[in-house]
Amino acid sequence: MNIVIFGPPGAGKGTQSKFIVNKFKLHQLSTGDLLRNEIANKTNLGSKISSIINSGELVSDEIVGNLIEKFISNGLYKNKIIFDGYPRTLIQAKNLDFLLKKYDQKIDIVLKLSVSLNTVKKRILERQTQENRGDDNEEVAVKRFKTYENSSKDLLDYYERSDLLKVINGEAGISEISTEISDLIEGIKG
Ligand code: AMP
Repeated sequence: MNIVIFGPPGAGKGTQSKFIVNKFKLHQLSTGDLLRNEIANKTNLGSKISSIINSGELVSDEIVGNLIEKFISNGLYKNKIIFDGYPRTLIQAKNLDFLLKKYDQKIDIVLKLSVSLNTVKKRILERQTQENRGDDNEEVAVKRFKTYENSSKDLLDYYERSDLLKVINGEAGISEISTEISDLIEGIKG
């Protein structure tokens, strides 16, 4: 099964993806992590994208599209992927459908974690003390939230129409959310 996990910055996508990876033996594909690796390894791509990421904007659909194709085309991960942070735009959602079809796969469920801007700010400031991310400060967090709100509407309509979308209250506690996600996944496994 392939899962998409979706939501604003600080919604808990990374935390819940790790839970799903352990419980259902899937592989996490976090485009944010892949992009941060490029920056940490000082690659050409890394130097191109660091200022975009640190300003809270999205990197181009083409760049992230290339990164995910490497993952989707790898037989080791076939039908075992949790997409964490991809897609973020309608173009990316259509690209994801295209690539999955190309490698004979599909999305089984889209999990959307809903949280308020206030919660996002609080969680990102907490995370700032644990991880050293250039984009985890209040100003960029607000910008990332707005970027998310602007780019996600069409994407959500798209998944709503396809009946794959499940909306989860991301304000709840971590284990409560994990239980809800687990039940939803068990439900579609049948
Ligand atoms: P994340 O770790 O998912 O919060 O992503 C951190 C940053 O990486 C985002 O604010 C974007 O600048 C960039 N990024 C991650 N995933 C994508 C994506 N699918 N499309 C465009 N930019 C992305």
